[in-house]
Order: sequence, then C-alpha cells, then structure tokens
Amino acid sequence: MPPATATTPSEIKFDTTAAVQRLVRFLGINAITGHEAPIGKELVAALKEVGVPAKAISFDDAHTRIPEPTPIGNLIVKLPGTGKKSAKPILFMTHMDTVPLCAGAKPKVVGKRVVNELEGTTALGGDNRTGCAVLVTLAAELIKQNLPHPPITMLFTVREESGLFGAKHLNPADLSGPTVGFNFDGRRAADVITGAIGADRWTVDIRGKAAHAGVAPEKGISATMVLALAMAEVHAGGWFGKVVKDGREGTSNVGWVGTTDGKSAGDATNVVTDFVHVKGESRSHDAKFVRDITAAFKAAFTNAVSKVKDHEGRTAKVKFTSRLDYVPFRLKPDAPVIKLAEAAVRAIGLEPNLRVTNGGLDANWMVKHGIPTVTFGAGQNEIHTVKEFVDLTEFESGCRLALALATAE
Ligand SMILES: [Zn+2]
Repeated sequence: MPPATATTPSEIKFDTTAAVQRLVRFLGINAITGHEAPIGKELVAALKEVGVPAKAISFDDAHTRIPEPTPIGNLIVKLPGTGKKSAKPILFMTHMDTVPLCAGAKPKVVGKRVVNELEGTTALGGDNRTGCAVLVTLAAELIKQNLPHPPITMLFTVREESGLFGAKHLNPADLSGPTVGFNFDGRRAADVITGAIGADRWTVDIRGKAAHAGVAPEKGISATMVLALAMAEVHAGGWFGKVVKDGREGTSNVGWVGTTDGKSAGDATNVVTDFVHVKGESRSHDAKFVRDITAAFKAAFTNAVSKVKDHEGRTAKVKFTSRLDYVPFRLKPDAPVIKLAEAAVRAIGLEPNLRVTNGGLDANWMVKHGIPTVTFGAGQNEIHTVKEFVDLTEFESGCRLALALATAE
C-alpha cells in the first residue's frame, strides 16, 4: 500500500548517533519507580542542551496527590506551534521511571542492540528510557531542523510502574488542551495499541480468634476457614481465574495469603488461625465487569463469615477494601488519533498493527482525562527481566515515527 501522506521514509532524517547516545545516557541513570529525581534532572539538562528554553520546562504537582512517596511531579514541556495557525495541539508522552530490578544497570551498545553489562543481575530500563530518548530526540530534531509543527505538549510521567500514579493524578488543565495523545511505551513502532484492560486491586483482612486447636478448638474462629469457604464460593460461582459470564470476560486472582508484614497467616499447627491478610485483583476490558468480579469476591467473604462460629456463636470480622487500579478503554476504529497513527506508521514505511493489551498503560488514564491516546513501541525487549535489551532498529523507527506524527500537518 502506498504511504497515506506525502511524506516518505527518506524525507524523515534525524541524527541517529545522537539519539542512541541519548538513549544510553538515560539508561545509565539510576532512578527506579518512586525515586525519579535523578532522571527528571537529566531530562531537563538534555532538553536544555538541545535548545528547549527553560521557561518551556516545568514539573507539575501530581506527586503531592500520589499516595506513595514520590520525590517529583510529572515533567511537562511545551513547544509552541511553528506551522499553520489552525493546527491543534498534540501530546507526546512516556514514563520516566523503571522497575526496581533495573537499579544499577550498565548499558552498552553491541551492534544494533543496547545490552546490559550486568546481564543476569539487573534489568536494563528500556521500559521506559526508550520513550524518554524518543521524546528528547523529537524536541532536538524539531528545533535543529526548524521543522513546522503544531503546538506540542510533552509529558514524562512518574510512578507508572508502581500503579500508573503520575498519569492518574495529573491535572489535565496543565497540558494545554491536546486533542490527541501519542504514548511511547512498548516493543515495536508499528504496533499501535488502541485499547487496554481495566483492573481493581483489593485486600481482605479476616480477623478470627485464636484457641488451642487440640484442647479447645470450638473456642476459636478460624480465619483460614473463612478464607477457604469464601474461595470455594467464588470458585463454584465461576468467578475465579478466567471469568466468562453472558459473553462478558475477565480474570481474577488471589496472589497473596499471609499477614500484612510478610509472614505466614498462622504460626503453629496447634493454634486456630486468628488472622489472614489476602491480596487479589480483578481485570476486564469491560469496566462494569471489573466491578462485578470484585463484588463477587466481597460477597463470598461476607457469606463465609456467617458460617464459621465459635462455641458462643461469635463470628470473624472481615474488612474488604478495593481500589480502582485503572479504567479500561477501547478507542473507536475511526477515531482521528488512530487515523493519524496509521498514516504516520505508513509514512515511515511500516504496516500498522492495531491491537489491545491485557496490561494497564498510562494511556488508560489519559483516555479517562479526555485525551484519546494510542501507544507505540520504541525497542523495549524482555522488559522486567535480567535478559532485557533494546533493539536499536525499533528504537530508531520510534524516533522516526514521532517525527512523522509531529510534522504530519
Ligand atoms: Zn512501561
């Protein structure tokens, strides 16, 4: 198929050497999720070096609303439009944090890859310093080549990896009204993610009563038995694991059973368990179904309580707490942001591959904030593992794609 715009791949030129150097520089910064200050500082320095004026760069106050300690807010950069007066503002975004496994990574270029000198010990951080390098490269090339572009807002979020917190807690008014968003956080540039799953995380505290299990078990209230009966009800009702009801689909899991401080729920075979802390999750592409799954777990725990009594008829106490982790989204196939994404992927000589993902993305919150956002890749591979590397061909495609998106009008 011919390119959908007049732009051809050969027309989109940029300094690949500088882009790769920038990527290696950002990969070498030790700044895992919740500890973003060093990468925030480095990004500001790199943006100023390529000619972004200091007054165009700021941090928001999202960290004051994030419930986990976070040293800085999201980094926001605004490049005034240099093209047609009528051009609408667009958003480019990425997250600046990495997973804790990346701490201390030592990047080095080997052929068309960036690998980790500490491979086998730490992850590399291509998720998501590839996105950081794409955005800074975009700013650098727009300025250096004096390319006409619409007003651009760049957003580098914090605490993506620990719960999409930076995107969740930002104030959309701080972004100056972009109508479409392009998020860089993935493997292949041609993969256009147009939808993502939603999820709840929930916890249950079951407080029973200890008693000697051999001498007077009837005086105890077993928190473990409450858990077992609740899980049996959830299982019998078809709410555990892969959940399918009337054409609606989702998943659920219990991922932690113990105490709140990481210990075993009970400590001895001869003691009736008095306390169990449970952590679980519910997911679906259907927001209502996420809530239905969570509600089924809550009901099962409530029902189980009444079935386990001590000799005086007393029952356990259950506290069920759920939190919306992120809302699902599915952009319409004819949404302008998808048309722009497809055209730009074709403009760099690739064929767009539209897909939805079963993981959460910052884009979930951007869509919730009213900015239709698609997500592309820029070379991440084997993320969150000690075998992680960056594919430089895909990274360069990601940079080229960002330039195509920014100069399409
Ligand atoms: Zn990521």
